[in-house]
Amino acid sequence: GAENAHAYPLLIKQIFASAGRFEPDNQIIYRGEQSFSYSEFTRRVQQLANALKAAGVEAGDTVAVMDWDSHRYLECYFAVPMLGAILHHVNIRLSPEQVAYTMNHAEDKLVLVHDDFLPLADQLAAQLPTVQGYIRLSDGGTPPATPNMSVLGEYESLLAEQSSECDFPDFDENSVATTFYTTGTTGNPKGVYFSHRQLVLHTINMVGMLGSYEGLPLLRSNSVYMPITPMFHVHAWGVPYAAVMLNCTQIYPGRYEPNLLVDLIKQYKVDFSHCVPTILQMLLGCEKGHTTRLDGWKILIGGSALPKGLAKAAMDKGADIYSAYGMSETCPLLTVTHLNKEQRALPAEEQLKYRTLTGVASNLVDLRIEEPSGKPAAHNGSDVGEVTVQTPWLTQGYHKEPAKQEELWEGGRLHTGDVASVHPDGFVEIKDRIKDVIKTGGEWLSSIELEDLISQHPDVAAVAVVGMPDEKWGERPHAMVVASNNELSAGDIQQHLQQFVESGHISKWAVPEHITLVDEIPKTSVGKINKKVIRATLAG
Ligand code: ADP
Repeated sequence: GAENAHAYPLLIKQIFASAGRFEPDNQIIYRGEQSFSYSEFTRRVQQLANALKAAGVEAGDTVAVMDWDSHRYLECYFAVPMLGAILHHVNIRLSPEQVAYTMNHAEDKLVLVHDDFLPLADQLAAQLPTVQGYIRLSDGGTPPATPNMSVLGEYESLLAEQSSECDFPDFDENSVATTFYTTGTTGNPKGVYFSHRQLVLHTINMVGMLGSYEGLPLLRSNSVYMPITPMFHVHAWGVPYAAVMLNCTQIYPGRYEPNLLVDLIKQYKVDFSHCVPTILQMLLGCEKGHTTRLDGWKILIGGSALPKGLAKAAMDKGADIYSAYGMSETCPLLTVTHLNKEQRALPAEEQLKYRTLTGVASNLVDLRIEEPSGKPAAHNGSDVGEVTVQTPWLTQGYHKEPAKQEELWEGGRLHTGDVASVHPDGFVEIKDRIKDVIKTGGEWLSSIELEDLISQHPDVAAVAVVGMPDEKWGERPHAMVVASNNELSAGDIQQHLQQFVESGHISKWAVPEHITLVDEIPKTSVGKINKKVIRATLAG
């Protein structure tokens, strides 16, 4: 009857139904070693689902993956939730104790694990009472011994035993589809989770945002897409689901090796990737990165602020730069760079300003900045406030953490913990995380802004700024700098900052007297600047 018009649940299987519908011959490629057409991909996903069922997976179970970015991971993105099970993306870069914590907390039942992580999985096996079995993901070669694990078999051989047809059931669109953990820079990692409905809406929105606007031309069905944000981190920003819906050619690079990444970009003419700033810096700084032009490569940067110096270095190589903002709790898409006609006509130098701001709110995202009282702050480019959001794809909570969940959703909107201003043209400017703002002499100093200015010195390859306790001023900024030229001194950087003091851009108390030159900046498990470790290091 007509009541069925309302009975079409939004399920990941409807994204899957688009796979190969438009471009069945487009390929999904793994490290340049293996290649599958969309037609093969759809068969393999069904074989995988049948193999999971044979391994005892039922609706409501949690299935974990420990892998680098791969075609197999993409197959899991579909097969697991389409069975009604929950896909746990394990952050394999957390400490072994934290990995075990997340796997126990999520109550993983079956684990798909790449050979590279077998030693870790075997070491943890005895501490994981909920896990009943493991499936090996192999790139060939003899696996290490795993005396403590019950390995059910190797992925390809298990798939080969199965039929390539599987009827995926209908169920409530609000069922949980995926879960993963925040990187836990303070305390235990927190589990966020997303429903089928949320992921479908996020995907459709992403296809619309990245695929339809003249000012944001990132993803179309003829794009060649290679993610460089781990698939375990916030669904690789949800772009793989959008790329499948669009039938894009996709390249999965496995473990990130900078020279290989550059080779893959060249070999397959990759025209769209996304990553955090530190990965871009690593890519530009590697041997191949020095000698290779990146013309035609569009790169969406998010996860941390994009310093202008780094953006310019990529643009000088021919790359086309965009920024996005989001977090684990938000699926993640909240904002993305969109250049309107007028902004597109500006010379590259002037476009840099827009490209390094954090973009405009995406469709269906209601973004505000709030004063501590909860009162909305003006969108005038100077008033600041905490970013709060509402959209259909925000985590409903933290798994088994009601108190933290209450804090996150205080007042009925999701609180990001980020301080920003919003410009009259809608561009959001993230100033800092509330916890990273430097409070010096009663003034608030944005660590991100200072990083941005220091990054513009031609001999600075990377920079991080943190606030360190100071008896007189409360806190003082302290910069950690990686030089690209070993003649660079702390004095040169202070000298460089003087021009911004003179132009009134920053006040003179913003210039750090403490600048430490280092070989490398400490990073988190997902490659962001790790300010907690930096503070501890500098404290000695
Ligand atoms: P973690 O907090 O462990 O890094 P997330 O990846 O969820 O986990 O980080 C989200 C945070 O990253 C945001 O709250 C914000 O502080 C920061 N962030 C993300 N994108 C941007 C951006 N484009 N500019 C500045 N900060 C960003």
